[in-house]
Amino acid sequence: MPPFNCRSAPTRWHILGAGSMGTLWAARLARAGLPVTLIVRNAARLHAYKAAHGLTLVEGEQSHLLPVTAQLPETDEPIERLLLTCKAYDAEHAIAQIAHRLQPGADVVLLQNGLGSQQAVAARVPQVRCIFASSTEGAFRESDWRVVFAGAGHTWLGDTRQGEAPHWLEDLQRSHIAHEWSPTILSRLWRKLALNCAINPLTVLYNCRNGGLQAHRAEVDTLCDELAALLKRCDQAEAADNLDAEVHRVIQATANNYSSMHQDVAQGRRTEIGYLLGYACEAARQRQFAVPHLHALHHRLIDHLKQRGLPCN
Ligand code: NAP
Repeated sequence: MPPFNCRSAPTRWHILGAGSMGTLWAARLARAGLPVTLIVRNAARLHAYKAAHGLTLVEGEQSHLLPVTAQLPETDEPIERLLLTCKAYDAEHAIAQIAHRLQPGADVVLLQNGLGSQQAVAARVPQVRCIFASSTEGAFRESDWRVVFAGAGHTWLGDTRQGEAPHWLEDLQRSHIAHEWSPTILSRLWRKLALNCAINPLTVLYNCRNGGLQAHRAEVDTLCDELAALLKRCDQAEAADNLDAEVHRVIQATANNYSSMHQDVAQGRRTEIGYLLGYACEAARQRQFAVPHLHALHHRLIDHLKQRGLPCN
């Protein structure tokens, strides 16, 4: 007869990338009583985290201090479930640091924007199951270890190898993380990439809010046409459907906002251009598909970033 209490302990969530999204997820999972450990960059960051006594999650007027545990990448603890929340350009290097800790069959959720980093990470850790995610939630760090949940949204997760939905989506439910299992996650990521390519670079070049692009409608339309044709060429016809209409809807609905790329450039931070416009141009090049306007936009953006001393990849 099995012992009375035979339920196994819940699997620990390790979170690599203790920035805005990583700490937003960590705080909500911990608040739901689930075991969570943050993996921070180095000993100095671990020291700073310990001095703060945990993470603070700010939602509207409320704030909660959550004593989530933290450790270093080189800690010798096996990982069965990982959420990777570094920027796209840091993802491959970060996963390489903890690859030896990932157990065969572990689940790794990749929350990067754009495309390209997910494939690079998956190739680095063939022993695990990589789940791609796309989120419309918004968060920023108000100060060290204090994260503001700035925009309610939704997260889609999916397996490009068409596997079943994992049982641990229950953890997200319990943590009130709005989510959905998506059998077409790649199509969602392509669609988001295309929206991003049609809007964000122009907001940087014209130094305007999203709504400022209403004055550049013809240029936006030309980019939409080229992006839609590229998506079809990349076998992503669904992601191309009515792209221009959605781009204009987003421009209108977010007219007062600065795009994430605009914010990055304004604050002197590296952008994720290589995984957005760069990825689109490279996909076109590999297929010998002409995208002259996307190329021109890419070059204008690279020049703009170089002039400000920012990386252009
Ligand atoms: P972020 O605030 O910059 O956080 C990234 C974190 O990764 C930083 O804390 C950084 O550490 C850490 N990191 C980088 N390399 C590392 C390494 N080798 N070892 C350990 N930690 C490492 O970025 P984010 O805003 O959360 O964005 C993460 C991803 O989510 C991006 O692809 C972004 O586009 C996407 N996203 C963000 C939002 C949002 O609202 N923020 C919404 C949707 C999607 P340091 O702090 O030490 O530099």
